[in-house]
Amino acid sequence: MTKKTSPNLKHYKKLLLDRQKELLDVSKMSQENASPVELDQSRVGRLSRMDAIQGQAMSLEAKRRTDAELTRITSALKRIDVGDYGLCARCQEEIVAGRLEIDPSVLLCVQCASQD
Ligand SMILES: [Zn+2]
Repeated sequence: MTKKTSPNLKHYKKLLLDRQKELLDVSKMSQENASPVELDQSRVGRLSRMDAIQGQAMSLEAKRRTDAELTRITSALKRIDVGDYGLCARCQEEIVAGRLEIDPSVLLCVQCASQD
């Protein structure tokens, strides 16, 4: 049993790459679906037109979140390369493994994250 709890980089790298691929697939798919809201009034009633606009706003919000996560994943992969991975971006303490397991792209330890 070694006392040093250095993160299993290979493991997290795989998690990050898998997640990255998943998100890229999702964003590719939603790009294909992100056609302009159809305003064919003869076919689409007022209510369903509002639904369509609302649905588009929601998919924009989903895209924004996907892009933000992809950015975090890219920087996490970079941190693996430079050897900073698993360290809190604010206090430089190690981030507990359980937290990385849930979200391998997380930047802050529990304490720092809860200070926001
Ligand atoms: Zn911290």
